[in-house]
Amino acid sequence: MKRLLLHVCCAPCLSGCLPPLMKETPWERVLPYAPDFSIQLFYYNPNIYPEIEMERRFLEVRKLAHLWGDIPLHWGRYNIGEWFRQSKPMRKEPERGERCRNCYRLRLRETFEQAKKGGFDAVASTLTLSPMKNTDAVNESGEDLQKEFKIEYLTTDFKKQDGFHRSVKTSHEMALYRQNYCGCFYSLYGDKEMDEPAIG
Ligand code: SF4
Repeated sequence: MKRLLLHVCCAPCLSGCLPPLMKETPWERVLPYAPDFSIQLFYYNPNIYPEIEMERRFLEVRKLAHLWGDIPLHWGRYNIGEWFRQSKPMRKEPERGERCRNCYRLRLRETFEQAKKGGFDAVASTLTLSPMKNTDAVNESGEDLQKEFKIEYLTTDFKKQDGFHRSVKTSHEMALYRQNYCGCFYSLYGDKEMDEPAIG
């Protein structure tokens, strides 16, 4: 059985991705082939601001991983300083634009790094569930990194087969916290002229 390292952005998105990955719902159009994976989760989101929000989302992921059969869950570094260094020049970009493209890639790159260290066969990301994300850009990054790391990337579109709506329903049923902004400082404050926090 292939070992899959699944990058997780938040619990609501994870709740929509696990059913097709575990064959609990039809997987066609969502995944490139019939799933038969041993899954581990990697929560790595240095984009999320403030830190307490990042931790809040992590706790929800941990709760869901436990409820879904104690799926192994790994926690990535909160290197938000590096995220700001890369993202600040693109602060004016709209959501789904270049700043987001870089944000997807940064998170996927670290997932590939960890997959390599852990001897995983494949990588995927919950980022393709939300209609608010640029799915093509997520998958383009994954496909580039697949060549660089020589680890398979599953090109997914988890929002298909009604995935996004199922995730909304499931997260309500399980009383999961659903955030109302994507995650970063810029998505939190929108067009307001706010100075970035001083982060070392
Ligand atoms: S809006 Fe979301 S995807 Fe885009 S840079 Fe911010 S956190 Fe990353």
